[in-house]
Amino acid sequence: MTIEQLFESQRKNSWNLRTAPLHERVEGLKKLSLWIESHQDQICQAMSEDFGKPEMEVLMTEIYPVLQEIHYAMKNLKKWARPQKVSPPLLLVGTKNAIYYEPKGVVLIIAPWNYPFNLAMIPVVAALAAGNCVILKPSELTPKTSQLMEDMLSSIFAPNHVLVAQGDKDISTKLLSLPFDHIFFTGSTQVGKIVMKAASEHLSDVTLELGGKSPAIIDSSADLDWTAQKIAWGKFVNAGQTCLAPDYLFVDSEIYGVFMEKLKHQLEVLYKDPAKDLARVISSRHLQRLSSLFNEALSAGAKLVYGGQFDFQKNTLSPTVIDQVPVTTQVMLEEIFGPLLPVLKFNNLNETIEFVNARPKPLSFYIFSKNKANVDRLLAATTAGGVCVNDSVIHFANHNLPFGGVGESGLGNYHGHYGFKTFSHSKSVLKQSALGRLLNLIYPPYTPWKIKLAKFLIRWKI
Ligand code: NAD
Repeated sequence: MTIEQLFESQRKNSWNLRTAPLHERVEGLKKLSLWIESHQDQICQAMSEDFGKPEMEVLMTEIYPVLQEIHYAMKNLKKWARPQKVSPPLLLVGTKNAIYYEPKGVVLIIAPWNYPFNLAMIPVVAALAAGNCVILKPSELTPKTSQLMEDMLSSIFAPNHVLVAQGDKDISTKLLSLPFDHIFFTGSTQVGKIVMKAASEHLSDVTLELGGKSPAIIDSSADLDWTAQKIAWGKFVNAGQTCLAPDYLFVDSEIYGVFMEKLKHQLEVLYKDPAKDLARVISSRHLQRLSSLFNEALSAGAKLVYGGQFDFQKNTLSPTVIDQVPVTTQVMLEEIFGPLLPVLKFNNLNETIEFVNARPKPLSFYIFSKNKANVDRLLAATTAGGVCVNDSVIHFANHNLPFGGVGESGLGNYHGHYGFKTFSHSKSVLKQSALGRLLNLIYPPYTPWKIKLAKFLIRWKI
């Protein structure tokens, strides 16, 4: 079957799924959970082969969050899917009003390579919980994980319900020409723009989970041991290939020297054995890009503080920190997305606010401080998809918080109930009853009394 025919078969099936009992969705999610639990070793193996991702990182950043998401959805689905009653205004007294959460229909999910299981499966879980048919396009750069997801999903769901379409941007482009009811894209800002343009052809709904440069501000009141550890993990987990990793640091000049020593110490402690505990850079092209960023910064005057070992045979870069970085170099202009961390100094908090606000809105913003006034000021004066205070990255892990970007870092959000809502259409339903006669008062003939009533409503806004 061609991709167009498969899409058509999903479209037909999507009308059946609307009226299918809710327990069928729960059963599908349960099967998914059982498959994942019983194939943990295979999932770890696939990601180890794809880019040397350590087992611990696969367990904690890929398998665990997906299982958590499935179980949270299973537990809450009945409540989420129930029509939500709302009250009417005075003129509509007697009517019954509710929001119905109906499936959008057929949705396309395009996933990136960096958390290849997590970032594909969490949206798939939300889309299935909301009752949709799904076509998943995983990344071509993690072929083992993509194949495993295809094996998993095809063993549980019929192709007219869930389908995995593997391939590179050619298959993406083909899929994007179809009239999906929703397109959920996770990837670069540059490709996000292509996706949004394609979606506009059919006016498909879109969610864009994009990237960018997420800053971390460390003021002089911060607990420096704690901060150094949190930065060292948040930046270098997955070898820095994390959309919300701190991209660069801004450190108060008062504590700069002490902090840098503590950061170096933490990197020694955490990455004693980088061959075991640090993932590879995904491809030689990506390592080449990191190497250019690094070399350009050094030739423009930046100083190497820590690391800097590139291995072009194994595709690895040891955790690397640079400072005195000119802000006009490419490393301070594009998303780094690798184990390279530039550090800048500041004297006054206002400098950091001006710097951040003069650049595209970040996906995440990190504040390390014990000074409440500074935290509140930074929270109020800047914007970002999400903020984490005195830690990094972990706000992603709370499914009660919407996860998504703002401006160039994305559009829309998901996780937990937010994911269910993203993949549902909120349909307004008003049911009139025999009691609903008040409205008749505004029908013609428009007598002076009715005009008086209209003026009364306008005056009191009821
Ligand atoms: P990417 O944009 O290159 O690719 C993402 C997906 O789009 C892949 O499946 C790819 O095959 C497809 N694609 C590539 N070019 C395309 C085109 N021209 N037309 C249609 N589809 C195309 O991103 P990536 O390299 O896989 O991932 C890294 C980027 O993703 C970084 O910018 C990172 O910040 C971002 N990201 C964001 C989040 C988030 O949740 N906000 C999470 C992970 C990664």
